[in-house]
Amino acid sequence: MEQAISRRNRGWRRLIAPKGRVCYIRDGARRVAVSLNVALILTVWPAARGGPMAFWLRQMNRSNRTDHIRITSHPEPGGKPRFPIRWGGARARERGPVIGTVSRPGDRNAIGSHGGCYALYRALAVSAGALDPIRRPDLTNTDPAVSIGPFPQWSEPDRIVSLDPWGHVAAQVFRAEIAAGADIRPTIAVSKARLDLHEMQSALAAGRLKADGEIVRRNGSMAVAKIAIDPVWYLPGIAQRFGCAETVLRRTLFEQTAGMFPELVTRPDMQVFLPPIGGTTIYLIGDVKKLADPATKITCRVHDECNGSDVFGSDICTCRPYLIHGIEECARGVQAGGLGIIVYNRKEGRALGEVTKFLVYNARKRQQGGDVASAYFERTECVAGVQDARFQQLMPDALHWLGVRRIDRFVSMSDMKYDALVGQGIEVLERVALPDELIPADAHVEMAAKKAAGYFSPAPPAPAEVADTTGRSLDKY
Ligand SMILES: [Zn+2]
Repeated sequence: MEQAISRRNRGWRRLIAPKGRVCYIRDGARRVAVSLNVALILTVWPAARGGPMAFWLRQMNRSNRTDHIRITSHPEPGGKPRFPIRWGGARARERGPVIGTVSRPGDRNAIGSHGGCYALYRALAVSAGALDPIRRPDLTNTDPAVSIGPFPQWSEPDRIVSLDPWGHVAAQVFRAEIAAGADIRPTIAVSKARLDLHEMQSALAAGRLKADGEIVRRNGSMAVAKIAIDPVWYLPGIAQRFGCAETVLRRTLFEQTAGMFPELVTRPDMQVFLPPIGGTTIYLIGDVKKLADPATKITCRVHDECNGSDVFGSDICTCRPYLIHGIEECARGVQAGGLGIIVYNRKEGRALGEVTKFLVYNARKRQQGGDVASAYFERTECVAGVQDARFQQLMPDALHWLGVRRIDRFVSMSDMKYDALVGQGIEVLERVALPDELIPADAHVEMAAKKAAGYFSPAPPAPAEVADTTGRSLDKY
């Protein structure tokens, strides 16, 4: 090591590395961790100067030492939490920060780690030597681009259980603690965007939508606020929503993730879980300040992810047409003085995943009699064991977070979504169905099946329509 160092002279910096530190050495793609058993004086080439070799020297705490795995599955004997969480607290500081750090175990007050499912990519980056395992985010200038809340719902009992209502202001509120070394990270980010969707141009051309130069521009683009939310689960509240005991929920989460999070069953003192699942994105169309005014007329679409249709335009379902229809309805609502809300949940394939979804497509297309609406839900259940795993019980949280108590126009035909909203005290005045002319060719099977199953529709289908609506077979693509 010292021989390699001695080959270069200019730009080296001398550092004292006492016993107990770990030194990471990178040479091209190779990365070597060296645990120092004796004190050394190292000469370090600064990584920023881009030389062929870069060295990092970090004082690793006990949990990060490469030769030392620290199990956090049991509380420190007699330990008092440094950052207690009082879920439902009326102020961010009173509630306390949610900390899923992996570098300061003593500060942890949540099971799991930050970033949801992306924590696993972070692990790959660390494994490959591309990411310093104890690096902290530089949160300069990352504060919300528009102000959201606080709203009374943030501290109403049991109102929000699946996200951190203070997650977007964590870096501001706990600035001093972060500066002092605490690994506190935002779980919500609020930014701005301009949407440029070709369907909006078509809506303008068809006269369904008018440009106003502010909400909808002449080229059809729209200004929005966009908000990314990582899930933060308050386990007692989640259990209550699903009507089970918290111990049952914890044990099932532990078992179904093959023991990925032992703290679920060993740390009843930790009530908050950062689950490794996809989050939620909200697009707000119109003046965000109007959220605080109960008189504001709200148009809202709650949409569950469907990559095949949303992104690639696959015509087997109505997902993208309905999403776009929701955005168009929001634009009209905003032009009439209201506010538009699109909630986009990462729940691919009814939260069964895309592999299951495509297996179901094949099973539907190959069954005797072809892809018929009357067997639509049954096929899903054959493959997945359930018809739908989205269970909308947690969905209203995003709207509670936005302070919404009433939706004037709800752009959805789903009874599960409607029931979840109404069941949690959000009034829904009008439900807006997808116009027939927007249903893609192969998606009539889905639509007929859903209407027959009781989804909202101004004109429920006749039994013959359900029996006769058949989709394309696998040899017709
Ligand atoms: Zn779809």
